[in-house]
Amino acid sequence: MKRMILVVFAWLILIPFFPLKAEAAARVTGEILSDNFIFIVVNDQLISFRDTYPEIHDGITYVPVRFFVESIGAKVWWDNHQKHAYIQKNDKKITLDLSLKTLFTDEGHIITDCVYIQDNKIMAPYKFIANYFDYRVSYIKNGPVARAFNENACLSDEELANRMQKEIQQEKERIRKEIQKKIEEENRIKNQGMANYPKIAYLTFDDGPTIYTEQILEILEKYEARATFFMLSNHIKKYPDIVRKVVNQGNSIGLHGVSHDAKIIFKSAEVLVSEMHECNHSLQEVAGFRTDLVRVPYGSRPYLKKEFKEQLEASGFILWDWNVDSQDSLKGYKLSPEKIVQNVKAQVARKKLPVILMHEKEATVEALPEILDFLKKQNYILEPIGENVTPVNFWGN
Ligand SMILES: [Zn+2]
Repeated sequence: MKRMILVVFAWLILIPFFPLKAEAAARVTGEILSDNFIFIVVNDQLISFRDTYPEIHDGITYVPVRFFVESIGAKVWWDNHQKHAYIQKNDKKITLDLSLKTLFTDEGHIITDCVYIQDNKIMAPYKFIANYFDYRVSYIKNGPVARAFNENACLSDEELANRMQKEIQQEKERIRKEIQKKIEEENRIKNQGMANYPKIAYLTFDDGPTIYTEQILEILEKYEARATFFMLSNHIKKYPDIVRKVVNQGNSIGLHGVSHDAKIIFKSAEVLVSEMHECNHSLQEVAGFRTDLVRVPYGSRPYLKKEFKEQLEASGFILWDWNVDSQDSLKGYKLSPEKIVQNVKAQVARKKLPVILMHEKEATVEALPEILDFLKKQNYILEPIGENVTPVNFWGN
């Protein structure tokens, strides 16, 4: 029972706090930039907050504690072990418990859900603290200003409001610039982080293995890159050692069928699926394993009908296409290595997760070092496609 009460108590304290804080961050910038902000005056003096500013939640003004309490002549210190901040003036003391998000006074007040951190600064309710240390608080609409005052104040609220307009305008301007600078700095860091963050790209080679596979493997090794090879059944049987070499070097293998003839393989869903099974059988014979990865010849559009695709997937295969086409297989036309490099460069920039289509051809082998050089400089890591990766295909799944 006791534990139950404790748990309920913790919920009451903690739960309302989180939305409050998430909201706060968005609100601060928005409010200040839209002139909706509250200024703190102690007696006749405007308090200039740096980096973190007073904010209002549900009609309650919260202030960065240190800036404020020092301006009313109180001391503040922090106990890192207890996660407590203490505010003291003369014989009166307030404890701010960060782990409970609660304010305690030595006179027995307990206010839950009113202490939080904003930009590394402790925030606490302004009016309560001011009142506790014998300041009254008035609200001046023009500003607006929340004014803490005691017998040392010289001006009336009205006089203060009139005299302080210019100062408040300047303060607004200063804060606006400060926030703008902060946002720019955050964006700069964020962009920098993005640029240096390793990204993944998938190189894929279709129609192998061939007499070019070993050269491709050598280049990949040199660049510490791995790729995915969509192989044809007959080629697997013809070059069993190369298939094993592809695997041993950490690359992955996918199925590309048997006939590579659109008139045959797309005749029916049964033919398509059976070609993939046959190709898988060859792989099993040569490499000792099967795979679910499939790329159909010429890509899954426009040849692959919807029901073919469904049949393929119902048989457990995972359909892959590409989103970067090196165009190294254009029919009746031998593309230069330079043009292949250019094609890849131009398209990669626009893709979040580039899946690059290439074929085992002489010009592609020549283009490969420059392509890898480019991708490495762009911080791409070249990974083999695994069976647990969400496929990229022309059907958008
Ligand atoms: Zn092909």
